[in-house]
Amino acid sequence: MKVLVTGGAGFIGSNFVRYMVKKYPEYQIVNLDLLTYAGNLENLKEIENKPNYKFVKGDIADHEFINGFFAEEKFDYVINFAAESHVDRSITDPGIFVRTNVQGTQVLLDAAKNIGVKKYLQVSTDEVYGTLGETGYFTEETPLAPNSPYSASKAGADLLVRAYHETYGMPVNITRCSNNYGPFHFPEKLIPLMIINALHDKDLPVYGDGLNVRDWLYVEDHCEAIDTVLHKGVVGEVYNIGGNNEHTNIEIVKTILKHLGKPESLIKFVKDRPGHDRRYAIDATKIRTELGWEPKHTFETGIKETIDWYLENKDWWENIISGEYQQYFKQQYGDR
Ligand code: NAD
Repeated sequence: MKVLVTGGAGFIGSNFVRYMVKKYPEYQIVNLDLLTYAGNLENLKEIENKPNYKFVKGDIADHEFINGFFAEEKFDYVINFAAESHVDRSITDPGIFVRTNVQGTQVLLDAAKNIGVKKYLQVSTDEVYGTLGETGYFTEETPLAPNSPYSASKAGADLLVRAYHETYGMPVNITRCSNNYGPFHFPEKLIPLMIINALHDKDLPVYGDGLNVRDWLYVEDHCEAIDTVLHKGVVGEVYNIGGNNEHTNIEIVKTILKHLGKPESLIKFVKDRPGHDRRYAIDATKIRTELGWEPKHTFETGIKETIDWYLENKDWWENIISGEYQQYFKQQYGDR
């Protein structure tokens, strides 16, 4: 089997590439990534010389390149992680989100259709469902109601994937997961940002009243879920993937401070993000009952492993925050 993983130098993609390269030595895993600010080949050092792994730099939205690449490589499976993924960036610059997330998906779908892949799997997000009140859960039947340019672009991509199945009979799956956390998470996202700021005794910026609720999924559990859907998912179906771990942002921040032995006085409430969804919560009954997947990590075990990883891998994140990213970091969160 030849498997294309796009966006495999990013946070979840690199965790997935490492997982697949180790689990399936008989598969060929090809990682296609444009290496934007979020792509980092350091994430893949552990497997970069394995015989069943190859990295190719390229843009999923480049039609000519992608068509030639697919014609040459003849992939069996395509798993699309490549995306612009940060909501705050989508508020300041929505255009690139449409190009990468919507157009890029359509270009991949076309190329996958032309060579007749066995399966195309689109990695999507629970954010396409919009926001919840204090109760209820997103199921696969919940109507799409995205609120940010990021989630709107992901919803647009999902609809294209659906349409390629309905129109051309393409074998597709869509997975929609909750917030991931774990090793190699880019320092702009909530959990690593808070760990790193706390380690530097800097303010921990928390949006609004800190009571926005997210469901947290340990990244390795997510990788196993995608592997399950790739091999066992019924063609044309959507699967929600959740961690059964709902927490408010302020609970997360306080848990991190407690683990690191730092004071809660570091918490600083900042002006809320525009269109900030109040609560996301996933009903993952379908993947559990139909495909037999369940998360192995509780939030307590996952957050401990994550914090330990950041403490043991300072070089990794120090390299990131001292480079080009620093400018953005300063602009968003002040001097550090
Ligand atoms: P990320 O930002 O860490 O990684 C994205 C990767 O895509 C980067 O390596 C980047 O270089 C690459 N990329 C960007 N534009 C590209 C292009 N035009 N061509 C090729 N590669 C390109 O993102 P992530 O957090 O790992 O998320 C991966 C996927 O999972 C995304 O599709 C995202 O929407 C989805 N998702 C993420 C989360 C989460 O909590 N992180 C939750 C739900 C869904």
